[in-house]
Amino acid sequence: MTGQYRSDLPAPLRRCVRCVMDDTVPGIRFDADGVCSYCHLHDRLDRAFPTGPEGRRILERFADRMRRDGKNRPYDCVVGVSGGRDTSYCLHYVKRELGLRPLAVHFDNGWDSETAKTNLARLCDALDVELHTVIMDWPDSRELTNCTIRAGVPYIDVTDDIGIARSLYDAAVREGVRYIIMSHSFREEGVTPLLWNYIDGRYVRALIRRYATQPIKTFRNVDLHHLIWWTLVKRIRVINITNYYDDTGEQVERLLEREYGWIDTGQHHMDNELFALVYHYARHKFGFDWRVVELSAKVRCGVITRQQALDALATPPFFETDEMVNYCLEKQGLTRQEYEAILRGPNRYFTDFPSWYPLLKACRLPIQLLCRLHLLPAHAYEKFFETV
Ligand SMILES: [Zn+2]
Repeated sequence: MTGQYRSDLPAPLRRCVRCVMDDTVPGIRFDADGVCSYCHLHDRLDRAFPTGPEGRRILERFADRMRRDGKNRPYDCVVGVSGGRDTSYCLHYVKRELGLRPLAVHFDNGWDSETAKTNLARLCDALDVELHTVIMDWPDSRELTNCTIRAGVPYIDVTDDIGIARSLYDAAVREGVRYIIMSHSFREEGVTPLLWNYIDGRYVRALIRRYATQPIKTFRNVDLHHLIWWTLVKRIRVINITNYYDDTGEQVERLLEREYGWIDTGQHHMDNELFALVYHYARHKFGFDWRVVELSAKVRCGVITRQQALDALATPPFFETDEMVNYCLEKQGLTRQEYEAILRGPNRYFTDFPSWYPLLKACRLPIQLLCRLHLLPAHAYEKFFETV
């Protein structure tokens, strides 16, 4: 076994008194009472996006609009699905609770777990929802991930997130649908610091240019002009409906198991097995534990206690086994020696590469407006400008 568990790393100098975020988190600030800026961000989002009866009323209004715009078309909306907990519950909610006619869209980067595939099939069958799967060319998918590993940046799955966005917008344009439903949950998953997983098309292009060692033929980037076209000309709106319903706690898993025979992978994001390497790489190269974000979110919502979160952080994570790491590296075509050399190499962030971030910063206020109008994902503004 190489590397260290979090519990072997030096203790953080400071940790939030309410959640478990600590000073290894970039840009974190603490108030006079020791409460961190991420807890304050959560409280602001919680006020901006109500759940309960008020959230339900907002969702009903969205649903009415989608039904109206979907008239004489085969679908009211496109829903991104992975087979994991949050997207599965979202699809259930869209169909059963809101009575909409969704098209489910899944992006497969070659790392889908068998459980994820089973879950997707069971869910879509039971809900009678059509599933459209975009399968990424495997040699290209592998090379794109290896580019980001060689680049030495914290998040090695950026190109798949681009692939997901591309698949959703392409499906919406093809079917003439104006609504894309997302299911990121700031309550259940927390908000990740921008430095850990920033993505934009210019940044991704720079990574590919500098670090690809073989031609990439099938990747279709998502750049600013695509987003402007889809948002302002095609008027496609991205609605994060999870903001308006309570998706916290285990009742979600139990409902999915009961209604659909859905299977719990037991680990967040492990519908996509590449995440074992995403987490391992970040921990051993950058010394941060990605679990801190999600555990903190669960503490804020009262799903677990702060002590339970601290105990979980002190426990070796699931991806810390040679078997798991070697499986991932073998699939990526990387030797352990190459990987270890990259872990020891320089750490870089998106700020070391060309990106659209300076431009986005200059457009901060219009972006806030577009987020509030649900033309961009509703809490993208907070993520982009409040976590740095
Ligand atoms: Zn906190």
